[in-house]
Amino acid sequence: MRVAMIGTGYVGLVSGACFADFGHVVCCVDKDPSKIDRLNQGQMPIFEPGLEDLVANNVRSGRLSFAVDGAKAIAAADAVFIAVGTPSRRGDGHADLSYVYAAAEEIADLIEGFTVIVTKSTVPVGTGDEIERIIRARRPEAEFAVVSNPEFLREGAAIEDFKRPDRVVVGTEDERAQVVMTELYRPLSLNETPILFTARRTSELTKYAANAFLALKITFINEMADLCEAVGADVQQVARGIGLDKRIGSKFLHAGPGYGGSCFPKDTLALVRTATDAGSPVRLVETTVQVNDARKKAMVDRVALALGGALSGKTVALLGLTFKPNTDDMRDSPALDVIPALVAGGAIVQAFDPEGMVEAAKLLDGVRFTDGPYEAITGADVVVILTEWDQFRALDLDRIKLLMRQPVMVDLRNVYRPIDMRSRGFRYSSIGRA
Ligand code: NAD
Repeated sequence: MRVAMIGTGYVGLVSGACFADFGHVVCCVDKDPSKIDRLNQGQMPIFEPGLEDLVANNVRSGRLSFAVDGAKAIAAADAVFIAVGTPSRRGDGHADLSYVYAAAEEIADLIEGFTVIVTKSTVPVGTGDEIERIIRARRPEAEFAVVSNPEFLREGAAIEDFKRPDRVVVGTEDERAQVVMTELYRPLSLNETPILFTARRTSELTKYAANAFLALKITFINEMADLCEAVGADVQQVARGIGLDKRIGSKFLHAGPGYGGSCFPKDTLALVRTATDAGSPVRLVETTVQVNDARKKAMVDRVALALGGALSGKTVALLGLTFKPNTDDMRDSPALDVIPALVAGGAIVQAFDPEGMVEAAKLLDGVRFTDGPYEAITGADVVVILTEWDQFRALDLDRIKLLMRQPVMVDLRNVYRPIDMRSRGFRYSSIGRA
């Protein structure tokens, strides 16, 4: 099959490279020429484990290419994927669909022969209908079907998730489109991955329901963590105790500083807006959004408390900036709430992240970025673990103690054990543990 992928970001690039690895001929298109230049020189525009090799292998095999101008690839394609961003619209939280609709207009002018247009971007219910209307208005004679195929990959494990997903959801009732989609995902059906064919609107909503449920699960355990602190219980044991129940499951039960990232914050908000507009409000999701926003902001109080109440003039070593490990993605990371509040409180912030500092530097003022964790910790009054990168799990604690002004750690990811930290002489606080 021939595939054109419109939008070569986290989702478009990974999906495009994986489809090429499945044996399809893929052209990844992006309107950002610097991104395409870098890719054509073999450089990755994002950090994602395994991506560089996957891209290089498929470029070498001639199945994967990159272009700013998608005209040729779209004309030749059996399937054109839309994988552009759908950020929160400023002011109202609705998904901003301007990139999706602009892509639809561009695609409309270029398709030749029967073409399946697939929305991989996360889009609200009814977006597929509007894309179909846009294309039909520009090309009344064209033969095409608009399909929803939301993406469930996680950054940091994106290739594995794309190649071994729990399921693939395909929203279309068009038989010719079903044949094309089945062919595209054939390697997965050989692995017995469930491929769910649904109506388009159902598929669109499934993606939001999945993200909202996961956000809710995280928020639930975060509230349990606060309760554990109040009553002297241990949230990790509570999480294990409930997670072993198969009806609940152990994933997404790690208490922390509140969810961030490129998806949950904007998708929960967009779902709230969709539901409100449809006259069927989703109050649990509304509350999840509010609780999570407040939680991210409240993390700074924990740092102040560890310092005896005042931040002014104190040096804070911040380890981890990205919203989770193994990505360079800073979108809606808790660091974007915590660091400005620390700086506003008069703290001096020294920060290190293995992959996120280039992006972080564009978004954060008044931070001293360091070359490594120990440089960040040097002269600090408190070390704060904000993202659980593997390299922060095995820090040389004796060395840290010598480098710091005083041995104080606020571990917002429960990387260390309270008993170990105390026995080493640290004043240590974590999430939901006595
Ligand atoms: P991104 O911002 O990393 O990438 C989007 C890319 O699209 C950018 O490179 C941009 O230049 C390009 N683009 C925009 N308009 C274009 C056009 N008309 N022609 C060509 N290129 C164009 O975004 P992302 O993180 O890859 O997310 C894309 C979509 O996938 C979003 O809807 C998101 O919600 C969804 N999604 C993301 C993830 C994730 O983990 N990032 C997971 C699942 C779903």
